[in-house]
Amino acid sequence: MDLIIGAGISGLSYAAATKNDYLIIEKDNEIGGYCKTIYSGDYVWDYSGHFFHFQREWVKDYVMGRLSEVDMLKVHKFTQIYYKGILVDFPFQMNIHQLDKEEFIDCLYDLFNVDGNVEITSFKSMLYAKFGKSIAEKFLIPYNEKLYATDLDKLDTDAMGRFFPYANREEIIRNFRNSSNQSYNAFFLYPKRGVIKVVESVASHVDRSKISFNEWLVSVDRASGTAVTNKRALRFDNLISSAPFPKLMDMCGIEYDKSIYSWNKVLVFNLGFDKKGTEIRNNWIYFPDRELIFYRVGFYDNIIGQDKMSLYVEIGFNHDEQNIDIPKILERTLSDLKKVGIISDQQLVASHHVMMDPAYVHITQQSEEDKKRKKEMLAQSNIYSIGRYGSWTYCSLEDNIAEAFELAEGI
Ligand SMILES: Cc1cc2nc3c(=O)[nH]c(=O)nc-3n(C[C@H](O)[C@H](O)[C@H](O)COP(=O)(O)OP(=O)(O)OC[C@H]3O[C@@H](n4cnc5c(N)ncnc54)[C@H](O)[C@@H]3O)c2cc1C
Repeated sequence: MDLIIGAGISGLSYAAATKNDYLIIEKDNEIGGYCKTIYSGDYVWDYSGHFFHFQREWVKDYVMGRLSEVDMLKVHKFTQIYYKGILVDFPFQMNIHQLDKEEFIDCLYDLFNVDGNVEITSFKSMLYAKFGKSIAEKFLIPYNEKLYATDLDKLDTDAMGRFFPYANREEIIRNFRNSSNQSYNAFFLYPKRGVIKVVESVASHVDRSKISFNEWLVSVDRASGTAVTNKRALRFDNLISSAPFPKLMDMCGIEYDKSIYSWNKVLVFNLGFDKKGTEIRNNWIYFPDRELIFYRVGFYDNIIGQDKMSLYVEIGFNHDEQNIDIPKILERTLSDLKKVGIISDQQLVASHHVMMDPAYVHITQQSEEDKKRKKEMLAQSNIYSIGRYGSWTYCSLEDNIAEAFELAEGI
């Protein structure tokens, strides 16, 4: 029997793909993991906005196969950056010509005066080396520091993988006249009734009687292939876990250097207002300004097409930050939303919050090497760690589906 830990998209995808007998245990009382949707009156909210740019046709077909065309919206992507009171198209590095003249000259000058001999050793040094001081310091560093809530010098040069919008000088200059911003994933897909619809589509291939809710993995005896849960002891042929990787190592009794694994957590406020906001038509806006508490604000009303403002607001914290005072942070959030002109006289009529912990793992050279070694060690006991947190990586839901299918084919 294959024992699957977690009924998020990774665990469900593995169950849908495997030919082996299986049991899923899920500590929560419902499926979805981070891809849950909240329905509150007129508002439809995810844990945080989840949007899709499928890269693999087969994953798209698989997900869409059981979703009706009308359920899935194809949304024209319109995202900008709030920079010193103006809105600049995303990505910043491609749109420096939209800045005030002096700021533009700084960015352009520094772009052409980067020291080509500087050794690139971290995410931060990569930003300086590729884009120069001004672009790095005006947007890329403050924004990513707010998001990751850590020193960017600690992160691997490739910490964001394919999710980082690289651009070379030629592309930047060409963009002054012929905007190619739209080629950055010009459209995205979003299910009208929230991301849970994608999860349900995958879960429709899973035998629901084989999911045990409110049951969680406590420890694993690798020698005998036994998993102990809060309810029982279970023998397994293979154990497939989507729990965060350091937690799995703890449960398997594997020793590791705890300082290697760090991550941020993201507090998400979902906020429903009594009427539409200002003229903002963006899907979401990035906020590099350190004086503002949030790093990104998304507009579900603009994405789904609603007549009342419905926002998600994301705030990054380091994982070890304690005593987070939610009511106080909500107050500050509302005040900052006023400051930037997103709200004026609208009344907040519904709200929800969730702390995603972990949210973005801090990918470092050490974490990559250690993870690889420890995963190989676990695989010798037929224990496989998958998913965004099981594989301790930066990825999309599509990647989770692909990884789970690949593993199911392999064992
Ligand atoms: C802020 C943010 C925005 C995102 N936006 C997007 C986006 O726009 N598009 C996109 O494609 N992806 C996005 N993602 C990524 C996406 O959320 C993840 O890739 C995906 O949800 C990971 O699914 P998973 O099944 O691997 O993990 P999870 O969703 O974390 O599921 C793991 C499950 O395991 C359960 N579990 C954990 N420990 C145990 C245990 N000991 N015993 C039993 N059960 C356990 C948990 O309860 C959970 O249900 C975003 C992520 C974040 C943080």
